[in-house]
Amino acid sequence: PRDWEPPFNITGDHLLDGLLTADFSHKSCRSRYEFAGYYNNNSSSHKPSPYFIAKLRKQESLQKRCGPGTAAYKNAVRRLDSGESVLDDGECRYLVYISYRGLGNRMLAIASSFLYAVLTDRVLLIDGGKDAGELFCEPFPETTWLLPRPGWLSFFFSPLSRLQGYLGGSKESLGNLLQTGAVTMSASGDGNVSWSPASRSPPPYLYIHLSGGYGFHDKLFFCGAQQRLLREVPWLFMWTDNYFVPGLFLTPPFTGELETMFPEKDAVFYHLGRYLFHPTNAVWHAVTSYYHSNLAGARRRVGLQVRVFQKKQPPQVVLDQLLSCVRGEKLLPAFPETKTTTAAANGNTSSGDAVLVTSLSSWYYERVREEYGGRVAGGVHQPSHEGRQRWRDAAHDMRALSEMYLLSMCDVLVTSGYSTFGYVAQGLAGLRPWVMARAPMWADDWREGLDPREPPCRRAASAEPCFHSPSAYDCAAGRDVDLDKVMPYIRRCVDVKCGIKLV
Ligand code: GDP
Repeated sequence: PRDWEPPFNITGDHLLDGLLTADFSHKSCRSRYEFAGYYNNNSSSHKPSPYFIAKLRKQESLQKRCGPGTAAYKNAVRRLDSGESVLDDGECRYLVYISYRGLGNRMLAIASSFLYAVLTDRVLLIDGGKDAGELFCEPFPETTWLLPRPGWLSFFFSPLSRLQGYLGGSKESLGNLLQTGAVTMSASGDGNVSWSPASRSPPPYLYIHLSGGYGFHDKLFFCGAQQRLLREVPWLFMWTDNYFVPGLFLTPPFTGELETMFPEKDAVFYHLGRYLFHPTNAVWHAVTSYYHSNLAGARRRVGLQVRVFQKKQPPQVVLDQLLSCVRGEKLLPAFPETKTTTAAANGNTSSGDAVLVTSLSSWYYERVREEYGGRVAGGVHQPSHEGRQRWRDAAHDMRALSEMYLLSMCDVLVTSGYSTFGYVAQGLAGLRPWVMARAPMWADDWREGLDPREPPCRRAASAEPCFHSPSAYDCAAGRDVDLDKVMPYIRRCVDVKCGIKLV
């Protein structure tokens, strides 16, 4: 029920040009309506297509009709528990995203899973770990996207319990079924696949494994024939840490529809992220109060995201790379700026540049402040320095989320290659960052790992996140292809050699 009287008139701007539904209580989630006010000045003016908006409204009604608490949901869980698999007409089908890895990875994976759910008419449920509810408001009205955990005893016997022990390998995964012959492909190579004679009918649930070093058979997920088969499975459990959206554009049954949904291919995460992710009031309060105290007065905000993956990497080398990127691309002033008084009447001073540094360590912030503190009128700022990455720690994740949003409110971004934390910020902002190369993980000496002929940073071709581990297999042709040449809007990433992105 609509339990609200909005304190102000909600306009098309607040709803991001129709991206967001008006069916929510304003007070329940401030960020949903205040977000737009922080991004007006951004270079980007992408508008969602009417077709995508229509798909979102359709998905919202599906989530409401089939979500937790409905008769349809109870029925589907009962059938999952009893191992029934055959779907009746009009029955609901589900996609459960299994949460793992850091917050940036999780957000990219959730956005990708959501798009897959929209394309395949599935209800998306998030097995979000403990803190998903503390980080994000519900994206769909009058229902929840959080997977309810059954009571302890019944959970123990339920297939849902196996979510816990999945860890990337399971005999019920699509890849495994294809490999062991439980699903067979016709020898003619015409792409026909069917459930093998042993079972004939589809299984009640399947895992989809789309993560890092996944194998050939798992990658067949991106084939049309396998997709037709997956339609028959009532429950899919998705294990991924990747932004696999570019892979969906390369999957034949989805290509045309995605091209219609997203006329601007470089703004897919921009819309998905803005639609799905709304920080809870606690996180949003942290974001906006930090913004107003430290960044709002600046004419231009420059975000520097420093993410160091290898422990043995000497910090000085990372700093040198960062500073030479900033100098080489002239991203910050070489001489001290002067404060200018813009609104003489009320004495407001508008500073020139402000610098926002995000990193787990405070060392980079201190060095940047030594270098630029006296030159940028808006000051150098770092909201937190957590020391190290933590797991299952809601307060830690809330700070990470606030910093991704603060970065996304910047006008210029320098990010660390490979980092999904940076991808989320650039994607929400719609900004093409300058990306610093990362040395290969196997480099013994980090200095050796970086090619001295390479620039310290390169401009990304778009604001889209990079899909780190795409499948190069062309299912129809039966061989690998050069992914850089398949579609005009798919390119290799500047930071990840095998990765691809939408441009
Ligand atoms: P990735 O590992 O860089 O791809 O990004 P993820 O977000 O998936 O995982 C890194 C995690 O480390 C984040 O979610 C945070 O928990 C933490 N982290 C990394 N960099 C920062 C930072 O600059 N600020 C904060 N607050 N946390 C960070």
